[in-house]
Amino acid sequence: MAHLLIVEDDDLLRDALAAQLTQAGHSVSVAADGLAAREQLESTRFDGVLLDLGLPRLDGMDVLRWIRQRLMALPVLILTARDSIEDRVAGLNAGADDYLTKPFIMAELQARLDAMLRRSRLPAFGGSLQIAAGTAKGRALRVDASLPRAWLGEDPLELTQREWALLSLLVANAGQVVSREDVLSAWQADPAEGAAAGASASGHIGSNALEVYVHRLRRKLADSGLTIRNVRGLGYLLESGAA
Ligand code: CA
Repeated sequence: MAHLLIVEDDDLLRDALAAQLTQAGHSVSVAADGLAAREQLESTRFDGVLLDLGLPRLDGMDVLRWIRQRLMALPVLILTARDSIEDRVAGLNAGADDYLTKPFIMAELQARLDAMLRRSRLPAFGGSLQIAAGTAKGRALRVDASLPRAWLGEDPLELTQREWALLSLLVANAGQVVSREDVLSAWQADPAEGAAAGASASGHIGSNALEVYVHRLRRKLADSGLTIRNVRGLGYLLESGAA
């Protein structure tokens, strides 16, 4: 189940899509034009967007470019009646994850959508993962798990092994709580870290050490607009919002 935004100015199609995807178990919001879509995207966190290209007030391509500047990780599936190769290529170049040409059948839409959402949830699957800035003013955080490297805006983010492991876990589970145990076992799974941890007197890395790394990572992410929230008794949560 995902929270989806359907952006489509054709009332019949929009209603049909909303009904179908609600029935499939998703939670669905709708927008009938580009500006309304942008307003919703600014205020609400979505797992995926179905985006018509021909829209009133603000064109679908402009919405897509706007999404890619601010919400890099948000999967977008384009719905288009523009079936020229140029339009499809332009859409994919502007950062769409997939597209469907109208008319399409619901079964194909569902299959494409499910595949897109699955890819976006598995950072290791495509080898790379990108994530948005937490606020419109924040610099986008980009994480590539396959390299592994991270950037804030255009600047590489210098991270120690432990900071990297912590950041990867938080990013892969953005919006969900990552437990202290998960972080500690990720650290110990790392061969170099495992040896270091095994050599310590207690045989494990303490929670105080974890607090120190969280604090450091918070400082490094300061101008991303992303916040690492301490959820008392549970763990940590990476979320959007002013720090
Ligand atoms: Ca349209």
